[in-house]
Amino acid sequence: MNKPHIVILGAGYGGMITATRLQKKMDDNEAKITLVNKHDYHYQTTWLHEPAAGTMLPEKTRMPISSVLDFRKINFVQDEVVEINTEKKKIELKDGELDYDYLVIGLGAEAETFGVPGVHEHAYSKWTVNGARQIKDHIENCFAKYNNQKEKEEGLLTFVVAGAGFTGIEFIGELSERAPELCKQYDIPRDQVKLYVVEAAPTALPGFDPELVEYAMNLLESRGVEFKINTPIKEVTASGVVVGEGEEIKAATVVWATGVRGSSIIDRSGFENMRGRVKVEPDLRAPGFDDVFIIGDCALVINEEINRPYPPTAQIAMQMAEICAGNLKSLISGGDLKSFKPDIKGTVASLGGKEAIGAVGSRKLYGGSANFMKKMIDNRYLLMLGGVGLVLKKGKKPF
Ligand code: FAD
Ligand code: NAD
Repeated sequence: MNKPHIVILGAGYGGMITATRLQKKMDDNEAKITLVNKHDYHYQTTWLHEPAAGTMLPEKTRMPISSVLDFRKINFVQDEVVEINTEKKKIELKDGELDYDYLVIGLGAEAETFGVPGVHEHAYSKWTVNGARQIKDHIENCFAKYNNQKEKEEGLLTFVVAGAGFTGIEFIGELSERAPELCKQYDIPRDQVKLYVVEAAPTALPGFDPELVEYAMNLLESRGVEFKINTPIKEVTASGVVVGEGEEIKAATVVWATGVRGSSIIDRSGFENMRGRVKVEPDLRAPGFDDVFIIGDCALVINEEINRPYPPTAQIAMQMAEICAGNLKSLISGGDLKSFKPDIKGTVASLGGKEAIGAVGSRKLYGGSANFMKKMIDNRYLLMLGGVGLVLKKGKKPF
């Protein structure tokens, strides 16, 4: 009898945890398992604000997929997914195609622009290893150019972060921590550098604990960050951003962090979706599809308590992956399918250096203790993915 073919698309938090769990749960004769990913490495998206600001080497945020998975059990295909044909159960890849019996879609997110013109042309919006490298190189290039210009270009050392959500705040935390070093390295007075965070909502980190938000804003302001709150960006141009009634902030660097939508492949493949996210069934399958699971940032699950979607996070992607792997095992080998119920442990955000904020259960964490917790969370993921060995190789030092 032919073995069923399980294909996992995307080697992010969701895809990698699914693959490692299936590798353990499935006997070789039960199923053939294939993982498809653009690159031959896995990266921790949640660390990318650090290499983007240049406070961490990009190498630290990634690892060869072969170092975590057993390629005798998982067939790895390095290729780019173009489209999924659910009728024919085929995946179109840039350099070929694949048939599947069961599919797991974990293709992550793309930047949400909300239709603001100029984002793709003029802002940095790719939260990937290559995207982070590009932001870092561009920032350093701006500093390097400054003292070589007789007529100083307006906004050359102005850095605008669009959106004061967690991504924007974590990135400006790193950049504000690094700015004094860059000034010293390139012989530039610190007051020549302007750091802005521009946020549409009436507060930074909308919906988060107000005391923690105040702590974060005070800390970042003490490092020279200027917040422009209640200020939606209307357009990104070659010379900066347009806000309010046409006011322009001249900036050579605009880093886009106004939220995410699910992969465009979801829409292209004909799944009913809301901003690239599919409202999945409790067992994480796409409505109307017995053979397609959708996990991570491409999936949408409603928090019934507030009747709003859970925010797309790594925490949820990993929990979905555990349920998805178990449900695949049940579908193939028999057993009941489980429903996914998120277990939200809290939120901790780094602010650069040894600073962070966090809400864990009913506890609020500030400064050093939040920073310690953040590093523990990052290391916990490595532990779940590859055990103690991976933590020792790639983990963060807690102090
Ligand atoms: P991802 O982890 O993004 O993985 C998607 C994978 O699919 C990638 O490997 C990608 O290369 C691959 N891929 C994409 N398109 C294709 C294609 N066409 N073909 C082949 N492969 C493809 N969440 C938290 O819970 N805690 C945090 O502290 C946190 N910090 C964050 C910090 C930053 C800077 C950012 C940007 C996000 C952060 N998040 C955090 C959110 C978190 O990173 C995402 O929710 C999580 O990565 C989603 O996991 P995923 O498996 O759905 O996608
Ligand atoms: P987000 O949706 O959390 O925040 C985006 C912010 O951009 C919002 O405050 C929004 O009001 C603002 N915005 C939207 N349009 C704007 C405009 N035109 N001009 C100015 N501001 C605008 O998105 P994010 O920060 O990119 O995070 C994406 C996901 O990743 C979220 O689910 C988040 O929780 C998660 N994340 C978590 C962490 C963490 O837990 N430490 C860190 C980063 C990201």
